[in-house]
Amino acid sequence: MNRDYFIYTYIWLDGYTPEPNLRGKDKIIKGEKTLKELPMWAFDGSSTRQAKGHFSDCLLRPVKIIPDPARKRTFLVFCEVLNPDGTPHLSNTRVLLAKQDNKNNWFGLEQEYVFIKNGRPFGFPLEKNKFPKPQGEYYCGVGAENIAGRDIMEKHTELCLQAGIPLSGTNAEVLLGQWEFQLFGQHGAVDTADFLWLTRYLLIRTAESYGISVSFHPKPLTRGDWNGSGLHTNFSTSKMRQGGKTGGKELLAKIYKTFKKNHKLHVTHYGSDNHLRLTGKHETQSIHRFSTGVSDRGASIRIPLSTDKDQKGYLEDRRPAANGDPYKILLVVSRSLKEAKAW
Ligand code: ADP
Ligand code: MN
Ligand code: MN
Ligand code: MN
Repeated sequence: MNRDYFIYTYIWLDGYTPEPNLRGKDKIIKGEKTLKELPMWAFDGSSTRQAKGHFSDCLLRPVKIIPDPARKRTFLVFCEVLNPDGTPHLSNTRVLLAKQDNKNNWFGLEQEYVFIKNGRPFGFPLEKNKFPKPQGEYYCGVGAENIAGRDIMEKHTELCLQAGIPLSGTNAEVLLGQWEFQLFGQHGAVDTADFLWLTRYLLIRTAESYGISVSFHPKPLTRGDWNGSGLHTNFSTSKMRQGGKTGGKELLAKIYKTFKKNHKLHVTHYGSDNHLRLTGKHETQSIHRFSTGVSDRGASIRIPLSTDKDQKGYLEDRRPAANGDPYKILLVVSRSLKEAKAW
């Protein structure tokens, strides 16, 4: 065995719309490299809807590296996509967020998703006309009649923690086969969003080895009484956490006002097909309305009890869909927070 070589899986977002897919390929390099030492790389953009066939190369610029705990001598290298001349590719939503970031802004993302087997949520009967018992006992449940895919979820969690991904929790969700992980980034929007894409990559790849796929669709089942999947976005700036004169009641009121004013813009950045999920039912507010509410899971923005009591702390934007691009979501959230003078 040649011990000089390491595998670097270069991962990037393709040019599919409305939501990009994750792609990755392995580069084998002599020696253990830091992010700065890693070379740029190229790929065939004509196979990812990022270029035409006669001028097909796109560039990969490494932006984050973590160990790949599932494979020996291997690293996962998250990359942004550049044009051949080194300018950001049109599909590169990360560059916009990088211009609108502050390391003191914290984001807690609650990523909901559904394991899928044979085109149905994992745990559902194979016969298309049959359904499991109604929702009620699946959320945070235990027992074979309530849970599907726990081993995959736990494997994913273990890998994430080994890789240094800042997960802050997981739970079984309201729909059978639906789960959630929480990612808590305390180093700004870009860092958190990069981690979310890497976490999604590890999830999809882990499930793949069980013959199961992952749906991030906001409403995998449109008929019947079944919950959709969101990407609740919790956020706080240092002013919000501080409270008092600069960050207390008045600042919170300004934030609600600004988010209300920008509601329409926000939802265009919060993932596709989200109107199927934001119906006003199943713990959501309608996509056509904006509301805030203390401890209210039917509001667009939920004010946690502690934030209301202390008039400082974080807020939860419940509108983003599970399939949303975190660069786009955190861009409009960051911009609105800036507009409200929250950072
Ligand atoms: P729920 O399901 O009740 O909405 P979760 O516990 O799933 O809440 O998610 C709450 C998220 O809020 C977590 O990701 C957590 O890390 C995050 N969070 C906690 N405090 C802050 C804060 N000050 N700023 C931003 N996010 C925060
Ligand atoms: Mn949650
Ligand atoms: Mn949830
Ligand atoms: Mn939530």
